[in-house]
Amino acid sequence: EQANIGVVGLAAMGASLSRNLAHHGNTVAVYNRHYSRTEALIAEHGSEGAFIPAKTVEEFVSSLAKPRTAIIMVKAGAPTDAVINELADAMEPGDIIVDGGNAYFEDTIRREKDIRARGLHFVGCGISGGEEGALKGPSMMPGGTDESWKTLGPILKSIAAVAEGEPCVTHIGTDGAGHFVKMVHNGIEYADMQVIAESYDLLRRGLGMEPSEIAEVFAEWNKGDLNSYLIEITAEVLGHKDAKTGKPFVDIVVDQAGMKGTGTWTVQTALSLGTPVTGIGEAVFARGLSSEAALRDEAASKGLEGPDPEGAFAEALKDDESRKAFIEDVRQALYASKIVAYAQGFNEIEKGAKQYGWDIDLGAVARIWRGGCIIRAKFLNRISDAYDSSETFGSLLFDPFFKDAVAKAQTSWRRVVSKAAEAGVPVPMFSSSLAYYDGLRSKRLPAALIQGQRDLFGAHTYFRVDESGAFHTLWAEPGQKEIEQG
Ligand code: NDP
Repeated sequence: EQANIGVVGLAAMGASLSRNLAHHGNTVAVYNRHYSRTEALIAEHGSEGAFIPAKTVEEFVSSLAKPRTAIIMVKAGAPTDAVINELADAMEPGDIIVDGGNAYFEDTIRREKDIRARGLHFVGCGISGGEEGALKGPSMMPGGTDESWKTLGPILKSIAAVAEGEPCVTHIGTDGAGHFVKMVHNGIEYADMQVIAESYDLLRRGLGMEPSEIAEVFAEWNKGDLNSYLIEITAEVLGHKDAKTGKPFVDIVVDQAGMKGTGTWTVQTALSLGTPVTGIGEAVFARGLSSEAALRDEAASKGLEGPDPEGAFAEALKDDESRKAFIEDVRQALYASKIVAYAQGFNEIEKGAKQYGWDIDLGAVARIWRGGCIIRAKFLNRISDAYDSSETFGSLLFDPFFKDAVAKAQTSWRRVVSKAAEAGVPVPMFSSSLAYYDGLRSKRLPAALIQGQRDLFGAHTYFRVDESGAFHTLWAEPGQKEIEQG
């Protein structure tokens, strides 16, 4: 018997994915550089389905039915390149190599070109949901050719998470499109986590609530518009007590957030595309600041001056009703900032699609994020509805549902941002998202002044509101005559 799919790289992700494939009726060829991992997988899980273990790449390739299809789950970077080449050497034209790792989309574009030149298909496939997702149903974002999707589609659909009856996988677009969308997914994940953290901080420092009380607030929020995996696990983390000390778990963890780079890629890419992703940017920078341990220690020793936080929250702390009202304000601020972050993330996908020539269905992207991945949420149904309707042009914020939600939230949102500023509690995402929203809806922006400055110091020219053509003012000359630059 031959395998209809193969997996190379049997560490946490590859082993889980292989088992998931086997659980769903696929015959799975498995190969790992060190055979010990392959043996361990077969010894522990071989009875769960049909596996064909291979000791060499050649053995692995010859155990695959044509068109041979292999998913690579090895360390990103040079190891991935090495494995791709080994496979391509052993395979034949028409075969399909899938990279399921977290590759940078530009690398995927390059690899796809190389492999296509050799007559094979290369599919960069973003896989979200970590080890558990890989085992029980991930959300998957494959790129590559339409032809490769014909073979790969049914296999991926067999193992994907299911949200409202639909598998959380769709063919995103050609070459690097899948890894691009996975990258933005991770950026949005950063933003979503940061708005939640800012909300927690305000309730903790502002209202002086205990983590266990805040856990209840999040559990309550999880029943409404904010219902999502991230809100759910936030309640769980905040409710957790450290076994050693009995203290709230959040209080015994060092407050320096780590990152592996996909958030940074999202922001770097947005900068080169010229599309503002302020929410994701603030989220990445906030993690950066948290990890500047020496700088923060020095700031503490220098005693940088701040306001009296008590004063700012006096009103909110007055009585139970005022506390409840402030908690609701924070919920609204979270919701509005989250909408802005998603709107910006989807704009980055749109810009990327235009730049790289991908035909990406944004509604379908929102649908495959409803299950299996970290940002899974009910809210994504609204986003897919918005993109499926013809009314959403340019920004999610123009969609009637989201326009209305932000309109309802904005007074609370503004109150929260001003209270936080008064109290000296940093809310970079709440405040920058609000600034983006206000910038977007402003009829006139001070960019006109910036154009004037640019023209004065660099003769960069400007456009007039009342005439077409580019103009330059002769600033240094008497009379400061304006000349048309053609
Ligand atoms: P690791 O990233 O830790 O990679 C370990 C695997 O890579 C092992 O199978 C190892 O083989 C193999 N490997 C390393 N170097 C080479 C090489 N030069 N040649 C051949 N094989 C090599 O494994 P994970 O399972 O954590 O992740 C796999 C991929 O999935 C990564 O790209 C990761 O970014 C991505 N990913 C991970 C997620 C996660 O939650 N962990 C989520 C989504 C994607 P050996 O056993 O012989 O050393």
